Amino acid sequence: MPTVVRCWRCQDEHIPQVFCPACEALQPLPPDIDYFTVFGLARDPVLDEQALANTYYDLSRQLHPDLHQTGTAEEQEASLQNTAVLNRAYRTLRDPVQRGQYWLELNGEQLGKENNKVPPDLALLVFEVQEQLAAVREAQSAGTDDARAGLKSELTQVWDDLDDRMQGLQQKLAANFSKWRQADDASDLLSGLKRVLSEMAYLRTLTRDVEKALSIF
Ligand SMILES: [Zn+2]
Repeated sequence: MPTVVRCWRCQDEHIPQVFCPACEALQPLPPDIDYFTVFGLARDPVLDEQALANTYYDLSRQLHPDLHQTGTAEEQEASLQNTAVLNRAYRTLRDPVQRGQYWLELNGEQLGKENNKVPPDLALLVFEVQEQLAAVREAQSAGTDDARAGLKSELTQVWDDLDDRMQGLQQKLAANFSKWRQADDASDLLSGLKRVLSEMAYLRTLTRDVEKALSIF
């Protein structure tokens, strides 16, 4: 990532940002700009989501192509390009799970293939949920009304358990994020982050499966 860019209009050199701090001309953001810099934020996975949303709406308004229709070709192009970068950055940073995955990438890591394996801490839970879902499928074809009602309430309980588990993981993720600022050695934090993100990704899939099963009752 370039640390400074030069204004196309006044030649001022500055950290990449949407408007030149010297002449206020709209600037094209470098394509490899990191998403935190887009929002003028320090690289830190802990962020104020409300403040992020406010900045996003402000910048979206200021960048809107309609506002730059009469500008130079540079400005028109920059408004389009920057809007695309801004939207991508916002989608990624506003969701803690996507933010965590992006954070891994910034640190030269990714979830990769590990993500497809059942996380060890979830193995038992995954097994139980799959049993339950199999029982539901069976009851759909052959079960009595009583059996179906029982399964529905069991499945609802399963959904509640998954939801509790997800909330616990959200707290773990937030705790992991909060430690990066003072981390001397990031390797433990990295492996912890991968573990939490894998579990969350897996839980999301399981939750969707359970919701799909619940929707047919
Ligand atoms: Zn300038």
